[in-house]
Formats: sequence, C-alpha cells, structure tokens
Amino acid sequence: MARRFTQQQQRRFARIQAERQHRLERRQAAQPTDATGALQHGTVVANHGAELEVESVHGARVRCTPRSTLLETPVCGDQVGWRAADADQGVIETILPRRTLLQRIDDHGRARAMAANIDRILIVAALQPEPDRLLIDRLLVAAELTAIEPMLILNKIDLADAEARHAMDALVALYHQLGYTVLESSTIAGHGLDAIHQALSGLNVIFTGQSGVGKSSLLNALLPDEQARTGALHSSGHGTHTTSTARLYPMAQGGAIIDSPGIRDFGLDSRDPAHIAQGFPEFAPFLGQCRFRNCRHLDDSGCAIRDALEQGIIDPRRFESWRRMTA
Ligand code: GDP
Ligand code: ZN
Repeated sequence: MARRFTQQQQRRFARIQAERQHRLERRQAAQPTDATGALQHGTVVANHGAELEVESVHGARVRCTPRSTLLETPVCGDQVGWRAADADQGVIETILPRRTLLQRIDDHGRARAMAANIDRILIVAALQPEPDRLLIDRLLVAAELTAIEPMLILNKIDLADAEARHAMDALVALYHQLGYTVLESSTIAGHGLDAIHQALSGLNVIFTGQSGVGKSSLLNALLPDEQARTGALHSSGHGTHTTSTARLYPMAQGGAIIDSPGIRDFGLDSRDPAHIAQGFPEFAPFLGQCRFRNCRHLDDSGCAIRDALEQGIIDPRRFESWRRMTA
C-alpha cells in the first residue's frame, strides 16, 4: 500500500539519512587499508554486545569485531564491509547506508541502535489477553515516528466466539480505516499464516506487542525449520544466556525476522505532544490549523483536531489514546 508518512516525516527521514551518509563517507575516507583479507560484503546476523556475527555472501558465519574507527555501532540487520583477520575472525570496516534504524533511548537518555534495515514493525495483539488499544496506538505512533511501516497481526482467532468476533471486527475496521494492514492468525489452527508469509516476503521484520499474545509462536510458525529456530526460543522473557542477543532469522521466502527481548520492548520514547502528533496520520490534515500554535489538542479553544473529532473525522478511540499518551 502506498504511503502514510506525512511530508514532514519524509523530510525528517531524508535529513537523517543524508546526515548519516555524510558521516559514513567521512569515515570511509579515513579508513586504513592494512587489513589482511579482501573487503567482502556481509550481513550482521547476531549481536552479542562487543562481538558480532556476520554472514558472508557465501553463507559462512564469521565472528567479527568492529574497527575502532567506526563512528556507529554495527547492529543486527546491518549490511557491512568486512575483512578476514584469520580463519574464523574478522573486522567490520564499514557499515553500508541504512534504510531504517531502530533505536531506543537508554537510561542515560542516549539513543542506542537496536536493529537496522527493518522494513515492517509487526504489532501483535490477540483475543486473549484482551487487546490493549493504548499499547497498540503507542506502538503505531512509535513506528510512524521511526518511519518504519507498521502492520497489525490479530492472533488467536481460534478463540473467537460471537461476541469476541464482534469486538475483533470493530478493532480491525478502525485500523483498516486508518490505512493500516491488519492480518488475522491462529498459530494453533494454522490459520492466516500463508497470508502473513506472503505479506512479509523479502522483508526484514520485528515483532512487538503485549506479552502472551503469541509472538514466539508466530516466530516459530514463520521460520522454515528447526535449525533456523535455534536460539529463537527464549519463551516470553524467561532468561537464558542467549536472551540479550539480537538475532536475525532468515525466512524461507526471503527476508528475515530480527528478534531479542530488547527489540520486543520497542516502544514510544517521546512525551512531547508536538512530536507524538506526527505519529497520528489522521491528524496530519489538521496540524497547524489550531488557533494557538502551542495547542495541545485537548480542551484548548479553536482546536482543529477537536473540531475533526466532533465532526467524526477523527475516531474517539484514537483521540482517547492521544489524550492518554500526552496527559
Ligand atoms: P509471547 O509472549 O507474545 O511470545 O506469546 P507466546 O508465543 O509465548 O504465546 C503465549 C501463549 O499463547 C502460549 O501458551 C501459546 O501456546 C498461546 N498461543 C499462541 N498462539 C496461539 C493461537 O493462535 N491460539 C491460541 N488459542 N493460543 C495461542
Ligand atoms: Zn489543537
């Protein structure tokens, strides 16, 4: 489906890309050329803190450390240039320009990269636990602000009785109307998985959403075989030594799932109303139209967003999420 990003979002995204490209070019110009092997192309497929695992174009996995002159930290999903240091060790020399970058703000308020080149953020909800609409909207806003297209998956539809089906249809209609793709699935009944496979073909994706909605189950259902899943089974946050590692799991039809507990916790870092408003695509036509420039779109007089709400153009459920996100 063609585009829901506002022009302002697109401009911001283009500016971030241009700045990153500029840094990259400066860094590449300064790169020493004394490494042993030839410069090769690869993909970062695991991120164990200081050490990374790079998959070469021939499918070999090599443990790599980033060259100290790199200005940015390579993360899962990065396309890199690397050189072999010895048989199973290498050095990452360059990071190729990133299409997208997933970040979170750490405890010190610094942006930390989590995954690169993600094409879709899959927001999973289920019939049980009952969908948390505020959380769904927060994740949608976070995705919009990261300029990565979100997609909703409503899982466990095998649990739908008539009443639940009704509530589910209303939810699906709300998000469809906003232009989002909503897919239904049941990992237990095997329903909807082909459609999800198709929709994700060739794309890099991450899973987010409430605990217990079936993210691990979906991940396992979408990966081709036992081998691909090795290490993927950190079931709902119960710690094993692999849980802090971000990993890329290739899907059979191209594309990949990138997963780690940190990535599953992707969310909205901002509390700035002007910023958050950019994450509501249906607000776009009205932003800048309020009487007061610093309008918070709550009870302010002359508010164009409230007018749109009263005219039924903005859905009251979405406005309620706006209120709770910015209160
Ligand atoms: P996560 O916390 O989001 O990773 O959720 P899990 O994948 O661990 O699933 C939580 C629980 O929901 C498990 O007991 C699963 O067996 C169950 N579950 C997952 N998918 C489905 C489904 O499609 N239908 C039903 N009825 N249960 C499911
Ligand atoms: Zn307003």
